[in-house]
Amino acid sequence: MVEKVSAAKAGKLTAVKGMNDILPPESARWEWLEALVREQMARFSYLNVRTPIVENTALFVRSIGEVTDIVEKEMYSFEDRLNGEQLTLRPENTASVVRAVTEHSMLYDGPRRLWYMGPMFRHERPQRGRYRQFHQIGAEALGFAGPDVDAELILLAASLWKAMGLTDVRLELNSLGQPTERAAHRAQLVAYLEQHADQLDEDARRRLHSNPLRILDTKNPAMLSLVERAPRLMDFLGTSSLAHFEGLKAILDANGVAYTINPRLVRGLDYYNLTVFEFVTDRLGSQGTVCAGGRYDDLIAQIGGKPAPAVGWALGVERVLELLREQGATVPPPVPDAYAVVPDASAMPVALKTLQQLRDRGVRVQMHAATADGLGSMKSQFKKADASGARHALVFGADELAQGAVTLKALRDGAGEQTRQSLADVATWAADLQSRA
Ligand code: ATP
Ligand code: MG
Repeated sequence: MVEKVSAAKAGKLTAVKGMNDILPPESARWEWLEALVREQMARFSYLNVRTPIVENTALFVRSIGEVTDIVEKEMYSFEDRLNGEQLTLRPENTASVVRAVTEHSMLYDGPRRLWYMGPMFRHERPQRGRYRQFHQIGAEALGFAGPDVDAELILLAASLWKAMGLTDVRLELNSLGQPTERAAHRAQLVAYLEQHADQLDEDARRRLHSNPLRILDTKNPAMLSLVERAPRLMDFLGTSSLAHFEGLKAILDANGVAYTINPRLVRGLDYYNLTVFEFVTDRLGSQGTVCAGGRYDDLIAQIGGKPAPAVGWALGVERVLELLREQGATVPPPVPDAYAVVPDASAMPVALKTLQQLRDRGVRVQMHAATADGLGSMKSQFKKADASGARHALVFGADELAQGAVTLKALRDGAGEQTRQSLADVATWAADLQSRA
């Protein structure tokens, strides 16, 4: 291993391109979002799952589909040096959840509502809203067949936007029908595209026979009018697929959830059927999809489980946070309630003991610790106390300690006001420190 490190061009070691450090104060925004997501998931009765970041490559090839951007060019795959297994850093998490649900027979005693959050890996060209390590939060409902749970998932996403104060997203919906309906559509779509072969770009020509539906999803402006006039999958749906779609729309309408139907919405993964949807924004350039999902009734069987319907979505955390930033949303950084000023090291044993008693009572306290230059002057310690954002300073001076007390000094409201508090009964004044906004 030592050899490898020195081989890393003997220069400064930096993070891998497209993979970001998430540092304070930015990390506070992540924690805020995560807490809010946990609360909403609980309100909708979705339970958390955590699957490994590394899976067998075959899992993704089989589930996402061979002729997709992810499998063709975006996966971080490698051979395990020790046993030769073909492994991949997960590019998404639905396949892993389905694998875990199947492996542990989780649908044995009924359907499940699950959610996850974590890093995903795709080798893409890094740009705003597109990274090589990025984070998704996802929700999956497994074992439910009707449009009611499709609607529930969309309402869950909408509740997240509301809780975050995220506006500027709109919902686009489509139905991909069932495989037989898609096959009938596909034949006509291919015929249509062949008639206009001269207008197809390289990607489209390559996909014409392997995955023609994906051509509808093109981002090439030169092909837009061609795909807009293409045969519509919606026109090939039978009564039962249409009823599913109508059922979903009725629930969304009753809940005042606005949507537009986008016949070109086909999603980049092969495993979807019936409902597909995306929440999109115009404020993030071409990385405008913040959340995407749909039904995948055949996937569980496809990876070897007992057939069961399922539906889910995943949102991109970086894009959601970026959109919130665009909207000017601010998240208050976490600040301590109190900062301990300790003029002399001899006071440390008593000071740290008091801080522990305060923390046991829920107070957030930052201790002033020595650097290589020592503890520093009172003045510099008060500067630090101020900069920490704390509302109070606790001064562990020799005079105070001689009387078994500490000075409590207000740094914000009523700044300068000070009282002496007894170290013997921390409980009586701990609560006064906690008046957080
Ligand atoms: P796109 O069309 O933008 O490449 P996708 O269809 O590949 O998106 P999904 O696989 O559906 O994306 O993933 C769900 C969500 O995860 C996306 O809507 C997006 O918000 C986010 N996401 C996907 N890829 C990236 C990435 N490379 N960097 C940051 N976020 C991403
Ligand atoms: Mg993509």
